[in-house]
Amino acid sequence: MKKGIIIIGAGAAGIGFGVALKDLEYDDFLILESETIGNSFKNWPQETRFITPSFTSNGFGMPDLNAVSFSTSPAYSLGKERLAGKEYAQYLELVAKGYELPLLEHQKVNEIKKEDNRYQVYTDSKSFEAKYIIFAVGQYSTPDKSFGNIGIHYSEVQSWKQFTNEKQIVIGGNESGIDAALNLAKNGNKVNVYTQKSGLSAPDADPSIRLSPYTRQKFFALNANQRQNIKIHEKMELKRLTQQKNKYLLEFANGHLIEAKTEPILCTGFKNGAVKLQQNLFEEEEGTVLLNDYDESLKAQNIFLVGPDVRHQNAIFCYIYKFRQRFAVIIEEIAKRENLQIDKEKIAEYQKNSFYLANCNNCVVACDC
Ligand SMILES: Cc1cc2nc3c(=O)[nH]c(=O)nc-3n(C[C@H](O)[C@H](O)[C@H](O)COP(=O)(O)OP(=O)(O)OC[C@H]3O[C@@H](n4cnc5c(N)ncnc54)[C@H](O)[C@@H]3O)c2cc1C
Repeated sequence: MKKGIIIIGAGAAGIGFGVALKDLEYDDFLILESETIGNSFKNWPQETRFITPSFTSNGFGMPDLNAVSFSTSPAYSLGKERLAGKEYAQYLELVAKGYELPLLEHQKVNEIKKEDNRYQVYTDSKSFEAKYIIFAVGQYSTPDKSFGNIGIHYSEVQSWKQFTNEKQIVIGGNESGIDAALNLAKNGNKVNVYTQKSGLSAPDADPSIRLSPYTRQKFFALNANQRQNIKIHEKMELKRLTQQKNKYLLEFANGHLIEAKTEPILCTGFKNGAVKLQQNLFEEEEGTVLLNDYDESLKAQNIFLVGPDVRHQNAIFCYIYKFRQRFAVIIEEIAKRENLQIDKEKIAEYQKNSFYLANCNNCVVACDC
């Protein structure tokens, strides 16, 4: 099947990008999803909730922070805020249906090859061809498990209820680490968190670095017993994790050695899904994919990245309200290359709704108080 644009992944970025294409009157595209719409969200631990609030603030130039298009609002669709992963996936399904996005589920992309000026995209059962590829594969399918198969990654937890009345070790002290610790403590576990530094004590204003107010609030709302059951140890960088018969051995960069009876829980973040899928199409520098001003790979023409792995200078686009602002910028560039006219009024509408960020030079999060 031949298309102008193929989007890989039907998560927040893939669905949002598809809506922007439809809005800007470009129909020659297809979304390929390895499982079903909102797959990553469907796999969040049961207790996980959105940390960014949802509120139907649409119409006043500041749409719902978790909306992937400015004409929709998860708070309105679901009638609540702080959505669970499965609820947000429902919102994405509604959006895909409402905008009649062309989408094929159960099509895991395994390989992309360049032939002449086009890309061949291979899934288990089919092949596709497109001039432009939008990588919207996110990070959730590529957890950072740096210690072989040892350690239970946050993304492998279905519910924190599966851990009861034991001493637990959590590696990592940012959003997922603190979220894990407080859920474990609520269920009666004693938790030791080992981390280089914790978002709980970070002075930065940027919520991509500092712990979100929601998680912080939940942490301080624990009762005294539960809070006492959480010990956070900073300046502890785990270097090696091994299993010896019935115990786990943790070796830290500062020389500390710890033995544990339970398998440590890794809240160590995620790897870049796009690089993992097709490394030869991207170049990385210190873990950041090198992109031009239109989020196109510096290594391969017409290969674009959307979603949480986009970085420009100090701007980290890891939240939906951040990365959704790049969709129209990319589409405008593709239209220019294809000599297609884009309705300037539509772009103005994207700008008016804070869904268009062309220049990231001033994206510095600073708060005077
Ligand atoms: C626990 C947790 C809480 C979070 N809370 C918030 C929050 O409150 N607010 C916020 O803004 N962000 C939050 N985030 C971040 C947010 O979830 C991500 O930034 C967002 O999901 C990224 O969207 P995406 O579409 O790039 O990736 P995803 O939503 O992960 O979607 C990627 C899709 O691509 C598919 N895919 C992967 N590989 C392939 C392949 N080879 N072929 C075909 N399809 C493929 C996957 O199945 C998936 O459906 C949170 C993340 C986590 C892990």
